[in-house]
Order: sequence, then structure tokens, then C-alpha cells
Amino acid sequence: MSEQEDYSLALDTLAIRTGHERTHEGEHGEPIFLTSSFVYKNAQEAANKFQGKEAGNVYSRFTNPTVAMFEKRLAALAGGERAVATGSGMGAILAVTMAYLNAGDHVICSRDVFGSIVGLFDRYIRKFGVDIDFVDLTDLDAWQAHVRPNTKMFFMESPSNPLAVIGDIQAIANIAHASNALLVVDNTFCTPALQRPLKLGADLVVYSATKYIDGQGRALGGAVVGQHQLLEDVFSVVRTLGPSMSPFNAWVFLKGLETLKIRMKAHCENAQQIAEWLAQHEKVERVYYAGLPNHPGHELAKKQQAGFGGIVSFEVKGGRPAAWTVIDSTQFISITGNLGDVKSTITHPATTTHGKLSEEAKQAAGIKEGLIRLSVGLEDIHDIIRDLSRGLDLI
Ligand SMILES: *Cc1c(COP(=O)(O)O)cnc(C)c1O
Repeated sequence: MSEQEDYSLALDTLAIRTGHERTHEGEHGEPIFLTSSFVYKNAQEAANKFQGKEAGNVYSRFTNPTVAMFEKRLAALAGGERAVATGSGMGAILAVTMAYLNAGDHVICSRDVFGSIVGLFDRYIRKFGVDIDFVDLTDLDAWQAHVRPNTKMFFMESPSNPLAVIGDIQAIANIAHASNALLVVDNTFCTPALQRPLKLGADLVVYSATKYIDGQGRALGGAVVGQHQLLEDVFSVVRTLGPSMSPFNAWVFLKGLETLKIRMKAHCENAQQIAEWLAQHEKVERVYYAGLPNHPGHELAKKQQAGFGGIVSFEVKGGRPAAWTVIDSTQFISITGNLGDVKSTITHPATTTHGKLSEEAKQAAGIKEGLIRLSVGLEDIHDIIRDLSRGLDLI
């Protein structure tokens, strides 16, 4: 599309058409600009571009045309003015913290966030004199009660991993804004196809593109989306500190965005069927999926999401031995910690993603020994059910 991008287009169209400005070669597919730097006609042009007096590329740690295409496309889908791409999801979150937190600030973070995010806040950000409190995602009184005069940032993820706890983005945004704090939402699980936190009051949204945005388990990447003014600080961190996205990975994610909506719809349909099948299975103690009417966050998820997502967690009767039997009896479902892939993946949180937590912390987080997390892929639903049945029939 040309300079004048038409944002009145529907999301399905934006996902396919936004971002690519055709070059003089007339290419139809988005080109991959695998170049670390850019050249100039003369010294004057180089000086102007280095000093920011003239727009244009300088060095791919700062900007790269393929990465810029991905940023424009994601921003359009997420309903943000701008996106800044990063080398991984953690790179995106690091950039947000570096951009907005100073020594003496305070952060409130929901307890059920992705494991490395707890590590980032607890082990590293604290070192720079920032204080962190972790609260229960659904306990609005706790968010309010932990506010201090120096609270600068709220951080949350919904649905949470692996128990699919749903947080009220609008209500938490209201508490944050009444306290002059920014709300940052990790929207990796839903993607813009299912949830648009900026529309619900979030100030910044972070993504691990590694998951559903790629959707086929190939590349690491991330992004921050929001308003121009807030994103300028994030951009400044990325270009200076270096967690930039590779142009090749940006191209993979551009392709991923084109099919994101139909993939997410298919993930949701398969996940719903698996969740309903597991819920009536005699060897299954409990299923965690917001698409089930008895899930405590069902109504809220219906309100703020366009679908319940592709992650289904469930507890089998018989603790760790039973959970491991189910996992080890699968024939094609991949035993891996990654998620958001067309391939179904299965993991035992208590000994992998949450393995570093103390017994006490696992108890508090509800990570039981019988818990299994399934990222429901796009294989035939009957085959997935048959693969899970092998182990469930043995325990
Ligand atoms: C994977 C993940 C991250 C981290 O992303 P990377 O791309 O692995 O750095 C952050 N948040 C959530 C919810 C994730 O699933």
C-alpha cells in the first residue's frame, strides 16, 4: 500500500495489505532487506540522516524496512498508533521497563505472568532500585491496596499461563490511571485477533511474536504497541541498547500476521472441543479453559475477548506419575515448552516452565503435580483426542 494507508479497512484486509511500500522492482511479496547498514549519495545526505534532519535508514539496529513493515502491520491490527519490534518477547518487556522505570519507582505485577517476566522484575529490575509487588490478577482490591505515591507501572497478562485466569483489563486500567501509573498488558496468548487491550484502556501492549504471531514455531521476536508519544521512548531504548528484531524474522512474522485471524479462530474451535471432551473425562480432575461456562472468568472473557484462545490446561487424577503417563503416551503431540504453534504441544508445568518455583510458590500459583498444559494445534481434532486418550486410558 502507498503512503496514505487506509485505516478504515477491515482487520482482515489490514493484516494482508498494510505496511508494504512496493520498491522500484515492482515486487508483489514483501522483500527482506537483509542489510545491516544503508548508503548515501554523498556526505551531506549521510550527515543529515545521522543527525535526524532527513528521514531515512541509517543502521538496522535503529530501523530496517522489513522490520518497519511488520511494525506498521501489527500496529494496525492492534489498534495502536505505532509498534516497535524487538528480538524476542522478553526484549519487548525489557525495553518497556528500561524506558519507563527509574530508581525509586514501584511496579505492581500480576502473580500469574510468564515465568521469565517474574525473573526480569524480581532479579534484574530490582537491582536498579525499583520495588515490585506481585498481586492476584483477579483481586482488584489488592491492585488498589498496593498503590504507593511512587507506583509507576502496572503489569498484567490475561488469560494467564497456565491456568487461564482472566483479569479485568478495563478495571485495572482505571485503577492504574487514577494513580498516574501506566498499564502494560502482555497480550501474547490472545493476539490482536482475539483481544485489543489498547481499546480497553491499556497504555502499552507487549507481544511475544514467537508464539501465535509466527504460529509455526520458527522465529523469536516481540513487539510493543501503543501511542506515538509513549513508543518514542521504547524505540530509543531498542535502538540504543540493541534488542532489535532481525529483518528475516520480521518477514516471517509479516507472513504470520496475514493468516493470524483464521488460525486463531481454528485454534479456538479445536481448543473448545478438547476442553469440553476433557471436562467430561473420568480421569480428569479439572479443566482450565475460559470457554467452559463454569470457568470463573467465562463472562469476563466473553466481554473482552473475541475468542477463548488455544491453550487448555487440565489436571489428571493421580498426580505427577499420571500426568507424565499422559504426556509420554502421546505419539505426535510435541513435548515442548513452546506454544502457539500449528503443531499441538504438551508440557508439565510443575517440572518445566514452573520447575524453578519453590513448593510453596507452586502451591500459591496453583501449579499442581497433575497439571498438564496443552497448546491445541490445528491437527485434526479426532487425532488430537486419540493421542491424549492413549495415556488417559492407562492411568
Ligand atoms: C513466550 C512468552 C513471553 C516471552 O517471549 P519470548 O519471545 O520467548 O522472549 C512473554 N510472555 C508470554 C505470555 C509468553 O508466552
